[in-house]
Amino acid sequence: MADGTSLDPVLARALEHANLPSLVPVLVQLTGDRRWCREPYRPTRSRGMDNNDGGGFADEVAAEIRAAVLDAVLAHEAGAPAAIPAPTGELLTELLTLATGEPAPPEYADMLAEDLGFAPEPAPSVPAGADIDAVVIGAGVSGMLAAIKLREAGVEHVVLEKNTEVGGGWWENTYPGAGVDTPSHLYSYSFAPRDWSTHFGKRDEVEQYLREVADAHDVRRSVRFGVEVVAAEYDEDAAVWRVRTADGEVVTARVLISATGALNRPKLPAIPGLDTFDGALFHTAQWPDDLDLTGRRVAVVGAGASAMQVVPAIAGVPERVTVYQRSPQWVAPNDVYFAPIDTAVHELMRRVPYYRAWYRARLAWNFNDRVHPSLQVDPEWEHPGRSVNAVNDAHRRVFTRYLEAELEGRPDLVEKSLPDYPPFGKRMLLDNGWYRALRRDDVELVTEGVAEVTPTGLRGDGGTETPADVVVMATGFHTHRYLWPIDIRGRGGVGLADVWGPEDARAHLGITVPGFPNLFITCGPGTVLGHGGSYITIAECQVRYIVDLLARMAGEDLRAVEVRPEVEQEYSRRHDEAHARMLWTHPGMTNWYRNDAGRVVSTMPWRIVDYWRMTHEADLAEYATEPRREH
Ligand code: NAP
Repeated sequence: MADGTSLDPVLARALEHANLPSLVPVLVQLTGDRRWCREPYRPTRSRGMDNNDGGGFADEVAAEIRAAVLDAVLAHEAGAPAAIPAPTGELLTELLTLATGEPAPPEYADMLAEDLGFAPEPAPSVPAGADIDAVVIGAGVSGMLAAIKLREAGVEHVVLEKNTEVGGGWWENTYPGAGVDTPSHLYSYSFAPRDWSTHFGKRDEVEQYLREVADAHDVRRSVRFGVEVVAAEYDEDAAVWRVRTADGEVVTARVLISATGALNRPKLPAIPGLDTFDGALFHTAQWPDDLDLTGRRVAVVGAGASAMQVVPAIAGVPERVTVYQRSPQWVAPNDVYFAPIDTAVHELMRRVPYYRAWYRARLAWNFNDRVHPSLQVDPEWEHPGRSVNAVNDAHRRVFTRYLEAELEGRPDLVEKSLPDYPPFGKRMLLDNGWYRALRRDDVELVTEGVAEVTPTGLRGDGGTETPADVVVMATGFHTHRYLWPIDIRGRGGVGLADVWGPEDARAHLGITVPGFPNLFITCGPGTVLGHGGSYITIAECQVRYIVDLLARMAGEDLRAVEVRPEVEQEYSRRHDEAHARMLWTHPGMTNWYRNDAGRVVSTMPWRIVDYWRMTHEADLAEYATEPRREH
């Protein structure tokens, strides 16, 4: 009998590119043979966020796994059904443990089964004729998702988008080097996989992906482009939101869903002289279209995620790049960060049943909650200045070793780049080539904040003067001012900005606020992921919750729901209490997650699996409800 390789050399070649730990559960599912769950077929765990493609297998074991998958796929294509097409519960937990090389807690099974399509939940639906319609603000990642799911549920809706295309932040941020640092197979909607060309999609591909999802789901049919929302007022008598646009138009709907994101409004710090600069000065999110940096002197303010992508991407083009770094960031390595994805992998994803699912499951495991326990402060820990517990200290050693290796022979840069706070204290960054860029002769790192912008350049707060033709403000976003600058008025005309103040936003589940009936927020307070993971996962939780709530409203014939104040207060209490035990409230930490009073406003303290469960079904008992009035 011919062996699989000669029967299908294309698939055999593709399997050479496989992530082996993802293949083992595939084998169990296709064949039902549990011997693949035992040694020597159990892969090792990933170190850090590495892909661990080889799985730690000896060559002959790897070859055996590939050959068995080849045979099983060919048999499947010839008509043999998969032995275990949809594992759930204990078996799924066992397979996740197998795929990741680590014991997986049982509570992950339900979330995983739904995400991977093994146990699809019936989508919530609103009966025809229900008196519920919605305005969605923004057509970025969350707004598109809302449009897709509202349509599936049968809710009439319109999306008002200030830009001329879908994509939100991905459409707006065109700075060189822009890209995602969550793996692309995870930074994809669960229902819209893509054959990504790199492991970490660059901006153009992510933006193209979002446009393609919009095409596939006919999202633009629901969107009015070039329409900026400036205000929204709740009309208590009619129980509707009146949404005002910059052109003075008023759009009315029962429900208002905000999908404006947390990183949408560029923040320019109040540095003296900002408007006196003679050259081009702009925020990273407002990169000019036709800017030529050749031979120019560029100064970059900030060393966060955006700066870390810009500087390696432009280095070598300008005559000189000078970075003003007020505080250094922790940077993690990743073994496939720059690697293209071979087209053979696309073949695998298409042809090997469950491979895409397990590949995503492993990424979700490695990038989502795995690090969460190590962000809990150990009150007994003896070195609170440098780390918060023993595992966090081990992270510190790993990242420090990486930094020292990348900056070998440059003790000056090591000293400037080594953070003095615990790893993960600010948003963890993946190495975009930052350290390599810093080593260049034409890149200079100034470890000062900026005291003044002058007509000809920058002056640091340590006195360093840098002449510049171009100043790039990589200074982040207004992350605490949710929905700002939209003027949202709820019951009694009360302003959301007045309830929250400039930087103390809070909401039940990050989604809904007492006094603001039928207002639902995606990417709201306390729902940014600081420990890892894909924001799209959170958006899917939130949109599912919102649509589920609307379906329940329709089912009970309600015209308004408003979260009870005590429910929100209890949620916020638990949120703050959980944060009090975590790294981001640690003394001395500065980051964009917390406000000036030290309260963490932006970041979620829960594991993703906990938030998934909290938002999986809406509970009307948490809401004051208002029945529909008969006309
Ligand atoms: P950011 O992380 O908040 O960084 C802002 C930088 O500007 C920091 O280095 C900050 O210094 C500095 N800064 C602020 N005010 C300053 C002042 N007055 N003088 C001197 N320096 C000042 O902002 P970002 O880089 O735009 O990133 C924001 C978030 O967007 C990220 O955390 C991430 O969630 C997302 N993002 C992700 C990616 C990615 O996926 N790779 C890329 C870009 C953005 P201090 O640290 O000392 O405050």
